[in-house]
Amino acid sequence: MNLSQHIKAPFYRIIGEEAEKLGIEVYAIGGFVRDILLERKNDDVDFVTNGKGIELAKACAKALGIKKVDIFKTYGTAHFKYHNLDLEFVGARKESYREHSRNPEVSPGTLEDDQRRRDFTVNALAISLQKNNFGDVIDPFDGIGDLEKKILRTPLNPDITFSDDPLRMMRAVRFSNQLGFKIADESWQAIKQNADRLKIVSMERIITEVNKIVMCDKPSIGFDLLFKTGLLHQFFPEMVRLHGVEKKNGIAHKDNFYHTIQVLDNLCVMSDKLWLRWSAIMHDIAKPPTKRFEEGAGWTFHGHEDLGARMVPKIFSRLKLPLDHQMKYVQKMVLLHLRPIALTKEEISDSAIRRLLFEAGDDIDDLMLLCKADITSKNEAKVKRYLANYEIVKQKLIELEEKDRIRNFQPPVTGEHIMETFGIGPGREVGIIKNAIKDAILDGIIHNAYQEAFDFMLAEGDKLGLKPKSSDQ
Ligand code: ATP
Ligand code: MG
Repeated sequence: MNLSQHIKAPFYRIIGEEAEKLGIEVYAIGGFVRDILLERKNDDVDFVTNGKGIELAKACAKALGIKKVDIFKTYGTAHFKYHNLDLEFVGARKESYREHSRNPEVSPGTLEDDQRRRDFTVNALAISLQKNNFGDVIDPFDGIGDLEKKILRTPLNPDITFSDDPLRMMRAVRFSNQLGFKIADESWQAIKQNADRLKIVSMERIITEVNKIVMCDKPSIGFDLLFKTGLLHQFFPEMVRLHGVEKKNGIAHKDNFYHTIQVLDNLCVMSDKLWLRWSAIMHDIAKPPTKRFEEGAGWTFHGHEDLGARMVPKIFSRLKLPLDHQMKYVQKMVLLHLRPIALTKEEISDSAIRRLLFEAGDDIDDLMLLCKADITSKNEAKVKRYLANYEIVKQKLIELEEKDRIRNFQPPVTGEHIMETFGIGPGREVGIIKNAIKDAILDGIIHNAYQEAFDFMLAEGDKLGLKPKSSDQ
């Protein structure tokens, strides 16, 4: 097979010529080649040479008029940007790994050595940039055959490939999900066998793969594979605990693992926000620890939204996910995820809607998407009823927001105002009055407007025995 039609840009020939000048060979390799054959966009091009990767990168950058080259001496790699492409150069390597470490002992090798140490045959394809066979695909492990069959297979015995770098097991699941490929049987068995080796891999590398799964069109596929291989158990036991169904007095609850990944899929159709997707993953995370069987009521999960929100920081911290506004956002989503639907169970009061708007703030639209995704009953009539109620809540939210602007609620009377009016310092009373004003607005007793809030403040102050400064004088 020859792919020269796909590498027509002049810089590929120039890179080949620079290698020739240095007396070495160069190949484009890996995901870039795979993605040409799959017609996927890929702006990262990896080049491998037999030795002298850094030297070649410098020579190529010079020939292409690029000044800035990033050099990673310890890895023997170099990188520079060329137009919108990331070009990465590496000397071909032979690797062997030590038992308890991810850090390989690396020694120079041939192109084939380098292909052999790659994760999957479909990721081990190389394109020659030499003049005499420019564009020829070098495929010693039948990666092209596997690409056609849509199979992920390791170039070596999978036990060796996976135990050398256990992250490759995560990559197998990620590629399977992303590309719609099947993991070959022997590789599948090897993953199940080696799953606990994932422990030696840093959480940062693991979570990078997880997030790529989360960003797939249908992440349930990836999470199901993570569960079935035992990989999920190594880093996210709380999610594993969602799995399973218990039955008592003939009453079963739903399997919350499959429910969760269904919610995630539903949400993915509506939004590609990573942290909203994480909210779906986390929304029922506290169902197992809050599960009870109550005579008459059946299975209950009281307070799972509250406990779930409290579990988020610890889980995010362990998973090395960001702990600032992203984590707070997920916490808020988990805490509020039942609220919109709970509203539909009773007469929907304006006050309840205002409170929801106040608490969700600008994230109200995301919260509503999560709620919609959360409607997964097998009972069609139930789904229909929930969806109808959901639409009513949504409509009311729009109407009230237009009227009262609660979403970005700023109290019309501030704490300073209160202190100044009554001539008092900071203290308990200020908080009480402030809260009373907020509640009065949310409950519709007064409007979200200065004069009404001011009068209300005077009345509340009076109840506490406070008199406005001016009337004292
Ligand atoms: P994507 O860019 O979508 O993540 P990719 O296949 O390009 O997919 P990269 O992480 O960019 O993946 O790596 C480029 C290539 O390097 C891969 O195609 C593969 O050949 C090789 N590679 C990357 N990580 C590993 C690994 N852990 N073990 C073996 N080979 C790897
Ligand atoms: Mg890549």
